Amino acid sequence: MINDILQQLHITAANSGVSTGTIWLDAKGPVIQASSPVDGQDIATVTAATRADYDQVIETAQAAFKEWRLWPAPRRGEVVRQIGEALRTNKEALGKLVSYEMGKSLQEGYGEVQEMIDICDFAVGLSRQLHGLTMHSERPGHRMYEQWHPLGITGIISAFNFPVAVWSWNAMLAWICGDVCVWKPSEKTPLSAIACQQIIQDVLRSNKVPEGVCCLVTGGRETGEWMAADTRVPLVSATGSTRMGKAVSSVVGARLGRALLELGGNNAIIITADADLDMALIGCVFGAVGTAGQRCTSTRRLIIHESVYASFTQKLVKAYQQLRIGNPLDENNHVGPLIDKDAVNLYLDSIEKIKAQGGSFLVEGGVLSGDAYASGCYVKPCIAAVENTYAIVQHETFAPILYVMKYNNLDEAIAMQNDVPQGLSSAIMTLNLREAELFLSQAGSDCGIANVNIGTSGAEIGGAFGGEKETGGGRESGSDAWKSYMRRQTNTINYSTSLPLAQGIKFDLA
Ligand code: NAD
Repeated sequence: MINDILQQLHITAANSGVSTGTIWLDAKGPVIQASSPVDGQDIATVTAATRADYDQVIETAQAAFKEWRLWPAPRRGEVVRQIGEALRTNKEALGKLVSYEMGKSLQEGYGEVQEMIDICDFAVGLSRQLHGLTMHSERPGHRMYEQWHPLGITGIISAFNFPVAVWSWNAMLAWICGDVCVWKPSEKTPLSAIACQQIIQDVLRSNKVPEGVCCLVTGGRETGEWMAADTRVPLVSATGSTRMGKAVSSVVGARLGRALLELGGNNAIIITADADLDMALIGCVFGAVGTAGQRCTSTRRLIIHESVYASFTQKLVKAYQQLRIGNPLDENNHVGPLIDKDAVNLYLDSIEKIKAQGGSFLVEGGVLSGDAYASGCYVKPCIAAVENTYAIVQHETFAPILYVMKYNNLDEAIAMQNDVPQGLSSAIMTLNLREAELFLSQAGSDCGIANVNIGTSGAEIGGAFGGEKETGGGRESGSDAWKSYMRRQTNTINYSTSLPLAQGIKFDLA
């Protein structure tokens, strides 16, 4: 089955990982072996970029920008519309590849491609709405307004857990804004990136899009470091761990470039005494075990009112007993594998730390063995009773470990929810209007995303996506996130017959 998909997506046994749009470079960098956490099989190889390959791509992108920025935005939008169509045609194949290469469930693989299609639709409409404001000038016979211009090259560094969607959130907006993109995908999921490049090639060709508008440079951390330090890249949009974000932001900041950071989360759901517990259960379990706990928005902490703690944790344990773990391409399974053995070791290490710091397990974890789990990457989702202050609870473990803790009053629960270094997503489950509004107020959640009666994961592309504190402060996707990809210019036009200065300053030459 996977061979048919690879063929359909034009992925061969050995692939160049470097492209300027429709041209694949004869890359000379290290060879990355792409394999699947589903069954441990090697899938194909990808040759990464050398520094010289990278420089060639950047130079091509710089030249392309000079032309692309002059295309009317709606015409750029038309290219993005056609990319959306190409993604629709290839949704099934790309969704399956994402599922096989990354290990997320097939439904989530399709969902990821649907998110790409959705952002294309959003960007098409936006291509006719990149509007600025007009202001009243204090000087007579003057007009003042602001407009938005493209920035240049947007460098996109993406994480393994959303191998394709995060690129599209950035690229589709950047393109309609008039920027060109250079994408450095995760070295753990390079084939999904190559597939995207293949899917859109015909659209680039038939629309005569300048070579260099849509570039790919596969590589590891070092390639990302080149991009962060490169003054030819005015905007670096980096998605990944907080450790990576701190490194990128200090390098980009030192050259006074712009960094758009989408980093780790440590997301909590507060379950109040007034919650609909059956509804809350679905949100909590999907949030905690979906993508095997490898979403930035995965639910990691449940803060439960003491009056419903026993009944709700009982429901949780029962739900966990019903989870089917296995091949994510089999739609009967709820939970797939972790990305690799390093992730399994981090999961095991966290379990040890939970025990050492005083936590106890309501549902035990462990690594699954046997033929069905031959890759060695399948682990059991587990639940631990902890205190919010434990060092391990303050840290984002990228695995299906769910922490439960009790609270007594809502102020205390909100303080616990906020008392972690990260600030991405949060939720409250309650049917009580006062509780919901307090949670959403300025005294409530300090996260970039705050939901009521919805879990922490599963954002729609229409809203701005991102978070505060160690999550990095960036916003991508919907709302006015497009402004991150443009530079603002204020223009004042004098159509009078004199030259009055602002603030009434007098400057006479005679
Ligand atoms: P990671 O930080 O290990 O790698 C992410 C990307 O950064 C990769 O492409 C990697 O090659 C590159 N990179 C690593 N170090 C770098 C450096 N010093 N300079 C430049 N580039 C560097 O993350 P991961 O394991 O792939 O992904 C998981 C993490 O991503 C989690 O923390 C998760 O919460 C986060 N994430 C956040 C969001 C969000 O929108 N907030 C979305 C998805 C994932």
